Amino acid sequence: MIYREIPKFIIKRNMQKSAKTGVYFDYLVTDPIMRQICIEVTGKSDYEVEFVENDYSDEFLDAQYNQGRLGILQYHNTAAYISFSDEKCDGRDSGIQSVPTAFNRFYSNTHADKKLYFYFLPCSGNNATSYYLFMYRLMKTVGFDFINTPSSLAGQINAFTSIDDIIRARKENGDKNSGNNAAYILKNAPHEYEIFGKTYGANKYATSLICYAICKLAHSEDHITLYEYNEKDLKELPAASLKVIRSMGNINIVNIDDEIERRELEENDSLRSPRFNAHLLDRLGEKHCALCNCSISEIIQGAHIWPVSNIKRMTTLSSDEKLAFATDGENGLWMCQNHHKMFDSNILFLSDTGEISYKKDLSEDDENYINSVTTVSTLPANLITPRYKDYIGKRYATT
Ligand SMILES: [Zn+2]
Repeated sequence: MIYREIPKFIIKRNMQKSAKTGVYFDYLVTDPIMRQICIEVTGKSDYEVEFVENDYSDEFLDAQYNQGRLGILQYHNTAAYISFSDEKCDGRDSGIQSVPTAFNRFYSNTHADKKLYFYFLPCSGNNATSYYLFMYRLMKTVGFDFINTPSSLAGQINAFTSIDDIIRARKENGDKNSGNNAAYILKNAPHEYEIFGKTYGANKYATSLICYAICKLAHSEDHITLYEYNEKDLKELPAASLKVIRSMGNINIVNIDDEIERRELEENDSLRSPRFNAHLLDRLGEKHCALCNCSISEIIQGAHIWPVSNIKRMTTLSSDEKLAFATDGENGLWMCQNHHKMFDSNILFLSDTGEISYKKDLSEDDENYINSVTTVSTLPANLITPRYKDYIGKRYATT
């Protein structure tokens, strides 16, 4: 990069769909916007600007359309990457789709003197939601500076201070009973984390961003595994995102794989299956005990309704069928360790309509204790599916 006496913007005109939409960057990024950015970033109000076509390339921009909705502002020896928000932020993720790409390009560039910014273009829709605030805080954590924070978000876009801080924010804002998050972060023990990241559709953007923030906050004693999973054909995060996660370090990336799961099932009666956990997260949302609502991640487990040991004894089933039953999200509930043990020891029973009952000959003390820790009397109606009933039938079948 040449030394710039006067700040200079170089911005690719074309977005991916500009030819179709008729919207180009020289239309969105107006002079007042560039002046505001220039003052904030360089302290100068005079600038030069060059909007360039797809065939232009330099050390910051490839000969392509504008990937990452970026403008590069060069001043002295500094390259400022300005990521522009989407014009729409109506649905989830739509406002931040290009952010991982912007971050990937920034992170992968070897220019020593570089900075990363985000600029809110005028947008339709509401970005002052807890969902967007969470995303902006992740961006702040990985190094984005916000040039023009909207007043509705003023003072709120603070970097996360630890992985536990991210988990806490998730819990406080999220709907724990819903499985529609792009990624889940589970803490299994001190310094032991698992990320379940969806890799399809818009989910991959949020998953990437969560992983970048966790890489940034991880300590050397942390063990972090990312399980990538999908419902459709895309099995992995985009290559550029994976490359950045690998080079940031700290996260071990594992694809949920049939062979590993099958071996686990053959060797153990208590299945430690990432796929089972992924299905439970999808169906039940964040870990929380179905019988007492405890949500301390370290002590919540996936409890099978039709136990793995029983499934394994079914000589009429193929190994593929056994694996499907053992990892079916409807064949499981989240339970705390206490309730899981009581359920598996037949101290506590579930009926096929979801009612909870206890063993008959318990002492009064024991019954009082179980009553005091079992705050749920019936499972929520949405969990009582035909397959749930079928699994309950199989669990208690006397053969
Ligand atoms: Zn419990």
